[in-house]
Amino acid sequence: MSTRAYLLLGSNLGDRVARLAQARRDLAATAGRLVAASALYETAAWGVEDQPAFLNQALVIDTELDAPALLAACLATEQQQGRERLVRWAARTLDVDILLFGQEIVATPSLTVPHPALPGRRFALVPLAEVAPQLVHPQLHRTIGQLLADCPDPLAVTRVSH
Ligand code: ATP
Ligand code: CA
Ligand code: CA
Repeated sequence: MSTRAYLLLGSNLGDRVARLAQARRDLAATAGRLVAASALYETAAWGVEDQPAFLNQALVIDTELDAPALLAACLATEQQQGRERLVRWAARTLDVDILLFGQEIVATPSLTVPHPALPGRRFALVPLAEVAPQLVHPQLHRTIGQLLADCPDPLAVTRVSH
């Protein structure tokens, strides 16, 4: 049985649009069937502010993988695009996070699902709300649309394509 997973792509180095397009192709080949993709959204860098703005996109993927295997596929996609982890929250060619994995709750040293920062990040909630506004967060028992309405994050998120 497949699981519907919700991923967030992010890039703020190089040709960001091409990075995200390549990530969609890679993940469609390695992770599962791409069911939907949000528009691209631009947001000023979060955490460390003296770096280029991010482009983010939410993907909906139906996968036969379990959550750890999906994480491995996400990390492999990042590696393909030359991601280096030097400094936390540093600029990156590609970041692929698992926001939600069906209604599963995972809490291991290498994987936390739902992504713990989701409710506090407008740049994640806006694209996710485009593709799954009625989806219910399995721990907070609120929809993505409701979480977005209550999100205190002041950083503006601007739609740049559809
Ligand atoms: P943040 O998680 O705050 O967005 P980040 O994406 O910059 O930060 P990374 O350096 O990309 O952090 O990831 C570090 C590790 O986080 C990954 O190697 C992975 O093991 C772990 N991790 C835990 N939960 C998740 C998740 N839901 N999605 C992706 N990675 C996760
Ligand atoms: Ca991230
Ligand atoms: Ca990440």
